[in-house]
Amino acid sequence: MFRIGIGYDIHRLSSGRDLLLGGIKIPYDKGCLGHSDGDALIHAIVDALLGALALGDIGTHFPDTEAKYKNIESSILLKDVFENISTRGWKISNIDTNIILEAPKLGKYKEEIKNNLSKILAIDSNSISIKAKTNEGMDASGHGECIIAQAVVLLQKNC
Ligand code: MG
Repeated sequence: MFRIGIGYDIHRLSSGRDLLLGGIKIPYDKGCLGHSDGDALIHAIVDALLGALALGDIGTHFPDTEAKYKNIESSILLKDVFENISTRGWKISNIDTNIILEAPKLGKYKEEIKNNLSKILAIDSNSISIKAKTNEGMDASGHGECIIAQAVVLLQKNC
């Protein structure tokens, strides 16, 4: 039995914030604004996992009105959702993602991001795809104002 989920997230870039993607700190002079640590990639994956099982979205599970989620590491949210799907008997088959940002270049961080996610999600890093692209200078992402992340996950359960 299979279920598929899609996730999307966007965060405004601002100076004075760390840039976190997939739980890895990327050296840059700006980071993502957010109630949590602003890790758009993890948020997109969380929404894809929840969406695959029609369990709602990240905002219903971790409301940004709750003080306990202020500046929380998004890896903790991902672990929580992974436990949720695992206790229901589902395994992750694969994850494919896009990160859309004008800068910085992510090429040398992709392996580190994949390794970190593979540890949290108990799947081989070869089953995680991280693709990065610019928006060719167009729109908010292309102007360096924000980072967008998209994720698709396939879940599998033996019946
Ligand atoms: Mg978010």
